[in-house]
Amino acid sequence: MHNSMIFMAITALLLSNCRPQSPQTDLALSAAAETAALTETTAPEAETTTRQDSFTIAYLTGQFDPASHPDFTTIDIKYADRTGQYLRRDAYEAFKKMHAAAAADGVTLRIISATRNFNRQKEIWEAKWNGSRLVDGKNLAETMPDPVQRALKILEYSSMPGSSRHHWGTDIDINALTDGYFRQGEGLKIFEWLTAHAHEYGFCRPYSAKGPERPNGYFEEKWHWSYQPVSGQLTELARTQLKDSMIRGFAGAETAGSIGVVQKYVLGVSKECTR
Ligand SMILES: [Zn+2]
Repeated sequence: MHNSMIFMAITALLLSNCRPQSPQTDLALSAAAETAALTETTAPEAETTTRQDSFTIAYLTGQFDPASHPDFTTIDIKYADRTGQYLRRDAYEAFKKMHAAAAADGVTLRIISATRNFNRQKEIWEAKWNGSRLVDGKNLAETMPDPVQRALKILEYSSMPGSSRHHWGTDIDINALTDGYFRQGEGLKIFEWLTAHAHEYGFCRPYSAKGPERPNGYFEEKWHWSYQPVSGQLTELARTQLKDSMIRGFAGAETAGSIGVVQKYVLGVSKECTR
């Protein structure tokens, strides 16, 4: 009787000892999983840090072809309105995660513009400058003979070549290019989802509403989002090294200095998009 009680007591003790061991094992496993997760998340950052060496003024000003740049990849038609668009690989991976999360919430994100290099931006800018593309229904070459006034009008929504965040491979326009689309219905639902969740995937909105927080720069763009872990580095590079005199090589470039394009437009972004 005595012996069996001791046996039962030992069994109970062993059993009770087993219990705390189980959560300890779980903890050890979850710690290992966390380490693995940390390794996974730190690896791309390490790559980004390495690639920062390639962030030069030539890169910042879009003087390269994304089709042959090793850090860029094509965007699958599943995520875009057409083929032949490019993004940085790191920004693209983040976008795909955001796209999946949005889809799970019934929100469809579609990239309608991504990387545009200097030459592409020059085509857009000069078409507006010389009047072959109308701005607010007007031929600016005829209605705005003053170069600074004409440049400022184009700058409401379009960047001078060399000063666009779309050069960087980090910035995308989503779904539509009109403010009205994002004010109601499907567009509003998308905008509200992005406002609530984009930051979880590293995306910020550089062209927030103009006001005391953002007194200068482009008009508000609810469609333009930026992969901040990389674009933050590029914004900092612009702040320290990009000069108005480097914004050149297109019609109307002579106005960049008097307008202060780098300070007011390149750096005229929301606080969440600066480091
Ligand atoms: Zn844009």
